[in-house]
Amino acid sequence: MPTDKYIKNYIDGTLVPPGSGKYLDNYNPSTGKVYSYIPDSAADDVQKAYEAAERAFPEWSKSGLRKRFRILQRLADIIEQNLEEFARAESIDSGKPISMSRSVDIPRSHQNFRFFATAILHFSSESHHMEGRAINFTLRQPIGVVGCISPWNLPLYLFSWKIAPALATGNCVVAKPSEMTPMTAHLLAKACIEAGLPPGVLNIVHGLGPKAGQAIIDHPKIKAISFTGGTSTGKQIAQKAAPMFKKLSLELGGKNPNIIFADCDFDQMMVGTLRSSFSNNGQICLCGSRIYVERPIYEKFKEELVKRTQFLKVGDPFSSVTDLGALVSKSHMEKVMSYLALAEVEGGSILCGGEPVPMKGEFEEGYFLRPAVVEGLAYDCRTNQEEIFGPVVTIAPFDTEEEVLKYANSVQYGLSATVWTQDISKANRVAEKLEAGVVWINCWLLRDLRTPFGGMKSSGVGREGGLEALRFFTEPKNVCIKY
Ligand code: NDP
Repeated sequence: MPTDKYIKNYIDGTLVPPGSGKYLDNYNPSTGKVYSYIPDSAADDVQKAYEAAERAFPEWSKSGLRKRFRILQRLADIIEQNLEEFARAESIDSGKPISMSRSVDIPRSHQNFRFFATAILHFSSESHHMEGRAINFTLRQPIGVVGCISPWNLPLYLFSWKIAPALATGNCVVAKPSEMTPMTAHLLAKACIEAGLPPGVLNIVHGLGPKAGQAIIDHPKIKAISFTGGTSTGKQIAQKAAPMFKKLSLELGGKNPNIIFADCDFDQMMVGTLRSSFSNNGQICLCGSRIYVERPIYEKFKEELVKRTQFLKVGDPFSSVTDLGALVSKSHMEKVMSYLALAEVEGGSILCGGEPVPMKGEFEEGYFLRPAVVEGLAYDCRTNQEEIFGPVVTIAPFDTEEEVLKYANSVQYGLSATVWTQDISKANRVAEKLEAGVVWINCWLLRDLRTPFGGMKSSGVGREGGLEALRFFTEPKNVCIKY
């Protein structure tokens, strides 16, 4: 499954160029060079995708669970069999280490299809008995044509996380991956053709968010939108979609606290904290970017974190020794660096990192940045309140549970939080009071796909994962039978 220079839209079961014939540059972030071209799709392409989906819906929605199960499993098999090609494409497109694409992004993508292919076989709905009079049962039916829009940080992982439950429940989909990382969605389109997915069931339209993405949101007949991305984009989408009464699932930004108590297992915590700080260059919505450490171990922690951060190897995503690859784009790297400058203006000290990595040869113009640790900032300054989404963490000491909860909950976001302690009562007390959709105790990013996933406050609306996703993509109808 070789990658192509010209990516195509996938509409009505075939790979097609955009109606305008125009393409956008696709950059390799490790070299800073254009390496392929993306369809610059517009509303007419979305309309064609919608029409194909609408035609496919009556048959797909009635095709039966076992047929949908078999096709989605076949799709998962094809991704798994071509793991290396998918992983290479993901790393070239996003700059992330190939080790991560091989062990996280692509395995999770085929697991998403398997998980929802099998979940649908076990999905059931409720019934409510009115003694001696009637039975109500909830008929759950597919919604129709739905829209799925995903970001660049975990490209195929998040794209498939939305598409799989939508298709499993019998919907037809018009989907748009991020314009910055379109290649694995293009490979997925080829895999769908090979798997025998009927034409029109899934349609992938590439292009810019405010153009192709906006056309999906604006389309009057696309009835539900599952979106993952930034909070400000989510707000715009909600403003547009709410008056059209579209069903919305919004998975948005985060500014997650990592709370470390003095009684934690120090070694285990250090390993977990290095991962939660810098995995994927900090470009995971669940990374713990604000680290609060109980004062008795603050100095020891600081010394150890700085030492371990300085050891991280930044460079060629295809080298087996690389820990951090390139950031996704030049503008994103500039944004991250602007936050480091802001941190200094706000009184912070950069203990390590924060400077571009001088590279040679083909990587000379790549977007490589040394991971940074910052201390000395107030909990309510902009650096500690706004999402940076890069390899930057701030650290600060605390003295009491009450104080750290105030810091942790002070942001507009409420996506995830991590707590390190050996005291089970304290862990539960703190978990209860944290304003976050996901709380990890003595671990990070340990995911069970059956659990509800999503954020509170400005981190989103609704939940994905397991039954939540199956419920989102179905319309519940109460049927009351009198006897
Ligand atoms: P964006 O909000 O910029 O983009 C997300 C997707 O929406 C992209 O496909 C984008 O297209 C598209 N888009 C942009 N504008 C519009 C619009 N007006 N209408 C419809 N679609 C649009 O986010 P990023 O791609 O920069 O992703 C990073 C953000 O995602 C971070 O804030 C991160 O926290 C969040 N995120 C949240 C997760 C969660 O589960 N809560 C998980 C992962 C990331 P294009 O790229 O072409 O502009």
